[in-house]
Amino acid sequence: MSAQLIDGKLIAQKIRQDAADRTQKLRARGIQPCLAVVLVGEDPASVSYVTAKERALEEAGMASQDIRLPQETSEIELLTIIDKLNQDPQVHGILVQLPLPKHINEDRIITAIEPAKDVDGFHPVSVGNMVLGRPGFLPCTPHGVLVLLRELSIPTNGAHAVMVGRSNIVGKPLANLLTRRDINATVTVCHTGTRDLADHCRRADILIAAAGRPGLITADMVRPGAAVIDVGVNRVEDPAAKKGYRLVGDVDFEGVKEVASFITPVPGGVGPMTIAMLIQNVVQAAEHRLQGV
Ligand code: NAD
Repeated sequence: MSAQLIDGKLIAQKIRQDAADRTQKLRARGIQPCLAVVLVGEDPASVSYVTAKERALEEAGMASQDIRLPQETSEIELLTIIDKLNQDPQVHGILVQLPLPKHINEDRIITAIEPAKDVDGFHPVSVGNMVLGRPGFLPCTPHGVLVLLRELSIPTNGAHAVMVGRSNIVGKPLANLLTRRDINATVTVCHTGTRDLADHCRRADILIAAAGRPGLITADMVRPGAAVIDVGVNRVEDPAAKKGYRLVGDVDFEGVKEVASFITPVPGGVGPMTIAMLIQNVVQAAEHRLQGV
């Protein structure tokens, strides 16, 4: 058996097109959705993520304020910049690319962002709203995974979902969202303290990996017919590749595709969905402003 490949790019394109249409309507009323993108330092992966996000904004007809700061920027300087962006009526969303340099307290920075502009969905107010099922921005990667499941009509009602990873940006929110009534999965969360990861994984109808460990999920850990979503993005050295490395997920793709019913590739699976959901949040932030929400 060979799994159906989940084309994240294609589904993301649909969402981006919808955001572009909504942007056009806003622009006709004199509003251009604008995201301030703040990058501290020059971490190569962060630079490439920020560049991809800005390109997507432009493609959707949105504006971006590109704020690149040196590695040695202090926490106070960054907080001052965020304060200005919070008050700038031209700015609808604020994204601070993570990780930040060690001398800056990430929690303090995320909490400083005005929740109405928190398009990443990381602010404690956004997280609280998500957990309570109230309206608010959902974090982009977890939301993107839910949309993939929905678009492919992968049954979630009563399904057993196993979430590998418990980070604040992927594992925790995604595990929570999967339990929402309209999704209705039963969720097991695995992490570095989990005894016998393979045993839990083998009981999954939907297996989601977000551990940041290349090849962690092997074919023997997957129940035949399970849907496998690979959130991991890992750089592994590859002298044959142009850049000297290639991107792989947390799932041993070649082995697992023979066992699973659905599988996301890396790249081209969850990654494009993250950007699409961000674009959707930015247009939503601009619409809310117009409606006075
Ligand atoms: P993280 O390092 O903050 O968290 C990783 C989690 O995995 C931890 O909770 C840890 O307990 C768990 N874990 C690690 N090794 C494990 C093991 N051997 N067994 C069981 N659990 C284990 O990472 P993160 O920010 O959640 O990101 C996870 C991966 O997803 C990374 O590869 C990251 O690059 C990728 N990512 C991709 C996107 C995307 O858009 N595709 C977005 C965010 C993160």
